[in-house]
Amino acid sequence: MRNGARAKLRTFFLANVGKVLGWEELREVAGGITEWGRRVRELRTEEGFQILTNNDRSDLKPGQYLLEDPKPIPAFERAISKETRSLVLDRNGFTCQMCGAVAGEPHPYDPSRKTRLHIGHIVDKSMHGSDDYSNLRAICSVCNEGAKNLTQDRPSAAKLLVQVRRAQTVDQQKVLEWLITKFPNQAVELLHKRGQDIK
Ligand SMILES: [Zn+2]
Repeated sequence: MRNGARAKLRTFFLANVGKVLGWEELREVAGGITEWGRRVRELRTEEGFQILTNNDRSDLKPGQYLLEDPKPIPAFERAISKETRSLVLDRNGFTCQMCGAVAGEPHPYDPSRKTRLHIGHIVDKSMHGSDDYSNLRAICSVCNEGAKNLTQDRPSAAKLLVQVRRAQTVDQQKVLEWLITKFPNQAVELLHKRGQDIK
């Protein structure tokens, strides 16, 4: 029955995204159990749903709850301490490191939304990037969700090469390192081919 109450609350919150909900209706949804508050907390802490209370937003009254964004915070981000989070946001000037949107201001790509910042990886986990402070950056929810939608704007090889040619050697070598990590087999193949050409 315990998970049943949590599941019912989850469904209810997801059906009422953006609406302020009162504790009386939440208790009723949970079947009137006394620990409905604990189940709501579990949705926040264990599942990563950003259910806001008057601790998060001053315009909410005590006993009011609001799920603004149906997308839960990923597990790695939940594991980041508040200190690390605020250090990263502070270092990045509370600005999305992909599009430059500023926290709390209308989003430049979608002015109907206020910019909310998440913590993301600089070098992706799939590329062996760590959860360390130095590998984290501020990223807005639009860029976070829409990385796929932005692919139309990907720069061409010609444009990239102009940038790389202008860069300092140390930065060019960083690009090289990144490419080798990303395409190890192709790197070996190219080197092999090159060796044969020289012979
Ligand atoms: Zn952004």
